[in-house]
Amino acid sequence: MSLNKRLLVIDDNQSIVLAVSAALHQSLRLPVDGANDLAQARQFMEQPDVHYLAAVVDLHLPDAEDDEAVDLALAHGIPVVVLTGDLNERLRDHICARPLVDYVVKQSVNAVEVVRSDVCRLLRNPERKVLIVDDSDSFREYLKSVLLTQQLQVFSASNAAAALPIIAAHPDISLTLNDYHMPGQDGAELTNTLRGRFPATEMAIIGVTVSTDPFVPVKFLKAGASDVLRKPFIVEELVSRVNACLDNLENIKTIADQANHDYLTQLYNRRYLFNAGSTLHSNARRDHIKITVAVLDIDFFKKINDSLGHEAGDAALIAVAAELKRSLRSGDIVARIGGEEFCIVAVNVENPLILIEHMRNRVESLCITGSWGNPIRLTLSAGFTSTPGDSFESMVRQADKALYQAKAAGRNCSIGI
Ligand code: GH3
Ligand code: MG
Ligand code: MG
Repeated sequence: MSLNKRLLVIDDNQSIVLAVSAALHQSLRLPVDGANDLAQARQFMEQPDVHYLAAVVDLHLPDAEDDEAVDLALAHGIPVVVLTGDLNERLRDHICARPLVDYVVKQSVNAVEVVRSDVCRLLRNPERKVLIVDDSDSFREYLKSVLLTQQLQVFSASNAAAALPIIAAHPDISLTLNDYHMPGQDGAELTNTLRGRFPATEMAIIGVTVSTDPFVPVKFLKAGASDVLRKPFIVEELVSRVNACLDNLENIKTIADQANHDYLTQLYNRRYLFNAGSTLHSNARRDHIKITVAVLDIDFFKKINDSLGHEAGDAALIAVAAELKRSLRSGDIVARIGGEEFCIVAVNVENPLILIEHMRNRVESLCITGSWGNPIRLTLSAGFTSTPGDSFESMVRQADKALYQAKAAGRNCSIGI
């Protein structure tokens, strides 16, 4: 049975419900329910087959002066971001006594944006792995409870020696929190060990210390820690540092992805193709593996743009890209290397002509419809080679030469050299 996944916003001020719901729906493309009081919120939460991934809850409602709506959401196992009208020290302590994702002061100018980014992060966090390395059982448990409230996947170890096998089993751990004083390797030494294996673009490390010695943070930072947290700290500080480290890693990954992908088709771009292609080429030569390089170009593509418009041309490029990708295996590469030109690197293809002809035929069968009117039909010309040559670049040049021959031979055909 598939659960109906939704978000819930509870506030007696309808304009807040609308603003928060719109921001969440736009970012997350999930249905959002809005409730103005506890009774309505209860009805939503008690629906069968509905799973609320997060609730944004006003602390005070007309029928729930004592934050019953927060408790109700928590009792339903829903992660909660609290909205509060005001903030003072007493209220803060009262709020922080509960396992909340965050609390947001409604009057702050960026309140809606903070709620939006809290909920977005919350929904991504179950995929993110964090490791706590600390010899104090109680402190480890405290850190774990805070990070679990953020919906992160949490691992823990009581010393460096116990941490290393966990990291070996989960090399995709995004963040470690290393205590300084531990039996065996100290936290700074562990940081140094980890940095030798994981660059700062792959793993964030926060050093944690109770020491008042200013040299301890220095040791952490010089060993490659991303940040240092001194005990005692407030929970907001811990969460904010953890979020900053994880967001930073994600931003780096997004930038790297964008640098390697074509915006329109989401295929790899030229830059990625030549980097990855060169590596594949050297590995293939060393291991005596056959690689096939093909360059494919849409025939008379300009006519599509000229007759149906650029939007139709874009849709055709997206459809062809998806079709090419479908015909390849996961280790193969398909890239958009020019306007309507694609390059494929396929590994261990016994009969390349059969593969390329298969792709050409599949593209020829496409019928791309849209608001522009007449459905688009198109053909491809392809050139390919499986002769290793001196370099990946030389294979692409050969495939391109074959493509010219295919164009000269009347288009809608494949030629291998
Ligand atoms: P040929 O069979 O010889 O390859 O002819 P062709 O018309 O396909 O080739 P030509 O190189 O003359 O034209 C390619 C066209 O592709 C021209 C350019 O405006 C268009 N184009 C390039 N990039 C894009 C894009 O991102 N979107 C759209 N819609 N068109 C693009
Ligand atoms: Mg063309
Ligand atoms: Mg062209």
